[in-house]
Amino acid sequence: MQTASTLDVLRTALAALRKGGATVGLVPTMGALHEGHLTLVRRAREVCDHVVASIFVNPTQFGEGEDLDSYPRQLAEDAAMLEAEGVALLWAPGVEAMYPEGFATSISVKGVSEGLCGAARPGHFDGVATVVAKLFNQVMPDRAFFGEKDYQQLAVIRTMARDLDLTRPHADAIIGVPTVREADGLAMSSRNRYLSPEQRAAAATLPAAMRETVAGIEAGEPVAPALAALEKRLEAAGFDRPDYVALADAASLAPLDALGTAPARLLVAARIGGTRLIDNMAVSPRPA
Ligand code: AMP
Repeated sequence: MQTASTLDVLRTALAALRKGGATVGLVPTMGALHEGHLTLVRRAREVCDHVVASIFVNPTQFGEGEDLDSYPRQLAEDAAMLEAEGVALLWAPGVEAMYPEGFATSISVKGVSEGLCGAARPGHFDGVATVVAKLFNQVMPDRAFFGEKDYQQLAVIRTMARDLDLTRPHADAIIGVPTVREADGLAMSSRNRYLSPEQRAAAATLPAAMRETVAGIEAGEPVAPALAALEKRLEAAGFDRPDYVALADAASLAPLDALGTAPARLLVAARIGGTRLIDNMAVSPRPA
């Protein structure tokens, strides 16, 4: 596996990989890799000739007072994990390579980025959309792979790709990969390592209570009381008052106050200790 930290090196390495028309899949990450990230890599390997992974802790998607400085950084360990998974090229630029002096552009995706995490973290999705657009243009992948763990992020990136008529990758070549979970159901996250053993044990309440809420709503329980009960359960388990507990249309992420005949999604963001956890699950629609 080659590692590139400048655009010149990246471009030369990509040209070599693409010889003979080979296809390239991109897996963008912020590093501190776990099985969730590696599952994206494996999916990419199944459907592309070569996999390029990127590691960049993007400062513009962190808000004031968030964990940019303390975000785990372990490039050598991550590189070894990617190499073992058969990644051909690691793109690991420094901040000055991504945002040189005079950088002035921002991509803002309206609508789908405004509620949920967009409301709780102002500017977050502008930072995400801008850095992902840059990664797409730098690597020009045939396909790109993102986790459903960050469900709203996936929707924002798909919307951006569609609205801007991107071709590498095309909006249809943005592949969503189901959330990879720990044995007790907690969604894997680089931020789980911030949890104390007590907080880690309590955190498993999040997916367990969400699963029950999904089952209740699918069985016809009214949505507002079901969401209120979920919020109460999380607080009883030691979570702070959640940023949001929401049922939304699975495609537009518009809030729903009743389950309809289109696929829906249950989405939650809540802090335990100082750590912000997010999770989401599919909710099957009522039969049409
Ligand atoms: P991050 O490094 O947190 O920015 O995540 C990089 C990519 O990995 C994003 O597309 C995430 O959605 C995805 N990802 C993170 N955690 C998981 C998980 N538990 N299961 C599946 N994908 C994940």
